[in-house]
Amino acid sequence: RIYGPNDPTRPLVVIDAGHGGHDPGAINADTGQREKDLTLGIAKAIRDKLVAGGRVRVALTREDDRFLVLQERYGIARKMNADLFISIHADSAEDSDATGATIYTLSETASDREAARLAARENRADIINGVNLDGQSNDISSILIDLTQRETMALSANFAQLLQREAAPFVHFRASYHRFASLVVLKAPDMPSVLFASWYVSNRSDVTRLA
Ligand code: ZN
Repeated sequence: RIYGPNDPTRPLVVIDAGHGGHDPGAINADTGQREKDLTLGIAKAIRDKLVAGGRVRVALTREDDRFLVLQERYGIARKMNADLFISIHADSAEDSDATGATIYTLSETASDREAARLAARENRADIINGVNLDGQSNDISSILIDLTQRETMALSANFAQLLQREAAPFVHFRASYHRFASLVVLKAPDMPSVLFASWYVSNRSDVTRLA
């Protein structure tokens, strides 16, 4: 379901509440609060704020407590032609004092492997970023996907900076708030994607604020 203005020219933001179903994510040892519930609450709160703003359309990958595999999460967003994909998680650490939010984007080394896999999987019949790969050779497909992914990674990194800048008055970030990681959920080659790791489930005051 798409929320917001009934206008397909408006950008579509897909928000992915991490974990769900039999996968609870991190759990606070004292309170029993589960990451999967916190992420769904945060995703819905962001959806409501964006819809109230009236400028973008919004969809969620899950609206209830269900399990989705990682490829399904960005797959749903790609099928909807999302302009931006935000996966919501809550961090956790053995050190119960660890605190602060982090934004992850895809690392370069990881993307090359995924680009190759995607090229094989899509069997040259996919359209990526307006480039129809049907009938292209495997090599050309790989190069086009690689170029698209590089551009997407740069857009994702720009969005990570923008998100931190705009959220900083409301959200306490870790000192090095932008990190690169090989996260499957961020591997859509043609859709800017970030993973927002909100505060720590393992930190008592963080989890209270998150809830
Ligand atoms: Zn998580």
